[in-house]
Amino acid sequence: MQKNLLKLILVLVVISFVAVPYVILAPERAREKAEEERLFKEEIARTTAEKKTYLLGKFDPSVWPDFVQIPFEYTVARTKMYLRKETYASYEKMRNEALKSDIILNIASAARNFDYQKMLWNNKWNGITLVEGQKLPEIFPDELERFRKILEYSAAPGTSRHHWGTDIDINGADSIYFDSEKGQKEYAWLHQNAWKFGFCQTYDQKGPNRASGYNEEKWHWSYLPLSVNFTEEYKNLIKEEDIKGFLGEEYVPSFNLINNYVLSINPDCV
Ligand SMILES: [Zn+2]
Repeated sequence: MQKNLLKLILVLVVISFVAVPYVILAPERAREKAEEERLFKEEIARTTAEKKTYLLGKFDPSVWPDFVQIPFEYTVARTKMYLRKETYASYEKMRNEALKSDIILNIASAARNFDYQKMLWNNKWNGITLVEGQKLPEIFPDELERFRKILEYSAAPGTSRHHWGTDIDINGADSIYFDSEKGQKEYAWLHQNAWKFGFCQTYDQKGPNRASGYNEEKWHWSYLPLSVNFTEEYKNLIKEEDIKGFLGEEYVPSFNLINNYVLSINPDCV
């Protein structure tokens, strides 16, 4: 009987050694776990916010890591322009290859951040920049129609692939140039060879494969090894309410800009 009592006491002593600290420390452990979860969520929110900032072009490519300045002699207007390093490296290889066929591929436009795109957009909106030789406020007093007209060739700030440093306009940015003999020859070369360097004509002819979006742009090429990923991130992270901060922003919901424009690209470029 006494033996049993002793056994019981021994068991109780062992249990108390194990259980008491466990019970005492439980709230502390719960606090630590909650703190870990909070930090993890904060980290996700921070990286998501950083990605969104990038995708919306709200940064300065001239000081952003992984961007390089394009040599002046490779730019159409001899201006300061920037690209992601990888985009530039592949463009340079493509340029050298084209030179062997006496084709010169210069860059008319490269990375454009939100502020730059906003300037282009607002100037078309208020008539400072002429569109097809006309001031848009005069021929489109209806602002919704004016918005639609600018969208034929221009992205609203925050929705341009030029924000990402992966997209370039080559030798010009209008159909008249690419209808010329010189433009046709250059486009034929690009059409045949650009894919070998990772470039894809983002806005091909509209039709069954691309029902909506910008008109065909023979000059606009995306560097797929980077842009495919940014397109996917844009689709997942950017919401319509993120697209704002320019003239006419109140018409954004009328156009379903993300689906009908940002994501309405040549299926080969996805
Ligand atoms: Zn472009």
